[in-house]
Amino acid sequence: MGKRRKKKQKHPRGKWLKFGLVLIVLTIFLALGEKLPKKMTEAFSEQAEDAFRDGSGLEIHYLDVGQGDSTLILCDGHAMLIDAGDNDRGTAVQSYLESQGVTTLDYVIGTHPDADHIGGLDVVLYKFDCRTVIMPDFEKDTRTYDDVVQTMKQKRYKNTLPEVGTVYELGSAVFTIVAPNGEYGDSANDYSVGILLQHGENRFLFTGDAEEAAETDMLENGIDLKVDVFKAAHHGSRTANTEEFLQAVDPDYAVISCGQDNSYGHPHAEVMNRLRAMGISVFRTDEQGTIVAYSDGTQITFNMSPDESWKAGEPKN
Ligand SMILES: [Zn+2]
Repeated sequence: MGKRRKKKQKHPRGKWLKFGLVLIVLTIFLALGEKLPKKMTEAFSEQAEDAFRDGSGLEIHYLDVGQGDSTLILCDGHAMLIDAGDNDRGTAVQSYLESQGVTTLDYVIGTHPDADHIGGLDVVLYKFDCRTVIMPDFEKDTRTYDDVVQTMKQKRYKNTLPEVGTVYELGSAVFTIVAPNGEYGDSANDYSVGILLQHGENRFLFTGDAEEAAETDMLENGIDLKVDVFKAAHHGSRTANTEEFLQAVDPDYAVISCGQDNSYGHPHAEVMNRLRAMGISVFRTDEQGTIVAYSDGTQITFNMSPDESWKAGEPKN
């Protein structure tokens, strides 16, 4: 051994070899760094990450499913999913859940029967062990909806109707059903199941595609809707996210889930202007991909910085 080391020290070529290796490694690191979106390289709050590893943390993954919704919530080894994107996203959502180690979903919420929310749900219901499935009392005469109903039957799952005020536990987090609060005729969106998720001092609101009528009713159901993070309703549509509602919810952050250059022009300029004027920081899946929020019960951190473009969508005719 000693002999070999001696030989190495004597050999100047060895030094150059080491230097070359360091250079190569550095180059690879830099190249990888370039490929990562700039914002992704920002460090998470160590506190929040440690808390999560200790099993006392909450993670919310706002999945990028293009034009649609899908949110995975993990807490203390428990998991729940709100919506699963459109029909062509089911397998991607399945893979994402698997990559997070999910095998069982304590809760699955299909906010309302529109394809951009429950399209991928048949895959999820089929592939995972789902304990409590919550969908509103609103049926739709579509193949997409029928696929979900048939899968529920096949797996012998029973639907639990959302009852406003009911509280469910997810590890050390709890969530309360806050919508739907009434009858809305043919408006599938307004039947959206809404939940308020609480983890320690941190609060998160999800209202699916609830529009103005449903938002107004939520404000009158007696549940305090003030939260830290609001998942903007209906992909940032002007038919939702009213000024009155946003003022009551009073979030620090809004997360918008929508597809790049979607035909609806989501998020609408009126909503972006409203959020900006109210000093609400915005994250959006069309520009930033999947967004992850961490809660340690007191602090909330994200895996990236808020979006600063404030760009509204452009409706296509
Ligand atoms: Zn939708």
